[in-house]
Amino acid sequence: MSSEKHDKTKVVSAGRRKEWTQGIVNPPVWRASTILYDNVADLRASGAKDTHHRLFYGRRGTPTQWSLAEALTELEPGAEATLLYPSGVAAIISTLLALLSPGDHLLVPDSTYDPTRNFANGLLKRMGIETTYYDPLIGEGIAALCRENTRVIFLESPGSLTFEVQDVPAIVAVAKNRGIATVLDNTWATPLLFPVIQLGIDYTILAATKYVVGHSDVMLGSVTAAEGKYQKLRDTSYQLGQTASPDDAWLGARGLRTMAIRLEQHGRAAMQIAEWLKTRPEVARVLHPALPDCPGHDLFLRDFKGASGLFSFVLNGGGEKERAALIDSLEHFGIGYSWGGYESLALPVDPQRFRTATEWKAEGPVVRLQIGLEDPDDLIADLEQGLAAFRDARG
Ligand SMILES: *Cc1c(COP(=O)(O)O)cnc(C)c1O
Repeated sequence: MSSEKHDKTKVVSAGRRKEWTQGIVNPPVWRASTILYDNVADLRASGAKDTHHRLFYGRRGTPTQWSLAEALTELEPGAEATLLYPSGVAAIISTLLALLSPGDHLLVPDSTYDPTRNFANGLLKRMGIETTYYDPLIGEGIAALCRENTRVIFLESPGSLTFEVQDVPAIVAVAKNRGIATVLDNTWATPLLFPVIQLGIDYTILAATKYVVGHSDVMLGSVTAAEGKYQKLRDTSYQLGQTASPDDAWLGARGLRTMAIRLEQHGRAAMQIAEWLKTRPEVARVLHPALPDCPGHDLFLRDFKGASGLFSFVLNGGGEKERAALIDSLEHFGIGYSWGGYESLALPVDPQRFRTATEWKAEGPVVRLQIGLEDPDDLIADLEQGLAAFRDARG
């Protein structure tokens, strides 16, 4: 019992306390708003105590949410606890609101997920919080952008459109030196491929909507806090009324049990398809952190245990119409937002539209692929005819 469990064992066993499962395999859905007390004294006592893992009121969760939260905590060595949110975006904004006050300064990578940018440019700006966007490849150079009032460095590695890998330890070192909090959006890798609390990150965020849920049918977010960092997040999140439904948490926990093997398959198939795309004359570049020409590839090799199933490629010439001809012709790739489910997706993306601190240039339009659990040979055959459609459209 003393040896540290492997990740594959943890995703199966974590969070399944007997008092929460009642002895059955999956902790049931405990739905609640009202919790009934035996008497007034009992009710009063409950309010006075720390309600962590005690039924208090539905918004504070039930064993269904606690079980998933505990499982996610166990996947991050060095973590104190995890809170669940109704979406990945809710997890991001709650963490930033917990850490920032009017007059503060925030650093965000230029490659960040667009809704994170919208929040910084919208509500945070209205609150008098200034954001500076930085080159995701800046590394220890981030020190030059830190000000006296910088409170948070946000990271997202790799970026979910362009896949630059950040030097997380170098940025953490600068932040720790100056007492700046670090928040990392770890949706692409999950703690299975990139456990970041042990690298010194204070808060790690998952859009659990993606790989944790794994079936494209639930919105869910999580924030896992390093030792000593949880209380602040919890206080603000409770003030904001953040809560995830027990039904959604249950589906998240159910997804988590197979996440390790799903990620392995997503990663292996995506790599095979990325390598194949690289050989194609219609493709100018493949943006995948495990490929040597991806910016930050050396950092990927140093810090990550593997790759997941999301990457992009740049077409050789053509424009909107030619890219649409490719995507529209695909049989096995759905056209839609999000990723991390069992099914493949293709999405036209335009990273240059969002950049403000760095220029992002490409030889042609960009397509992002989420590689699902289909047979990769079928996906390659599909892409092969898609590239033929692209060639025909390009003329
Ligand atoms: C999807 C996504 C989010 C937001 O998650 P939602 O559950 O859709 O709100 C955050 N970060 C990244 C990198 C994502 O891909």
